[in-house]
Amino acid sequence: MNDHFADIFTETACPSQDKLLAYVKGELSASERHEVEMHLQDCELCSEAVEGLSAISRKDQIPGWLRQAKWNVLHSLRRKNRRKKKENYYLYVAIVALIVLFMAIALYWIYHFARR
Ligand SMILES: [Zn+2]
Repeated sequence: MNDHFADIFTETACPSQDKLLAYVKGELSASERHEVEMHLQDCELCSEAVEGLSAISRKDQIPGWLRQAKWNVLHSLRRKNRRKKKENYYLYVAIVALIVLFMAIALYWIYHFARR
């Protein structure tokens, strides 16, 4: 009973859920973090809340990691694509040059045979 009252009493000094979430996400300043950690030692409610929040925030962080990984992949792909586009451009120029060359040779042969 006394413990229960103590819980209720300490609850008034409990950091807000936003603050606990910020603590879990590591967004608090060193002094704020220390404050929360000191409180967590006394308050079962908050340590449980932090446990729950860290589980949730870890889940939240997965898309973040994925987004980061995706971004990295996209970034390297974009870099590769830019290189590829340049390669494609040279290939295109080479093909056009070959077609022009073949047409020139063909026209030369047609002209040559037409003359005979
Ligand atoms: Zn608390």
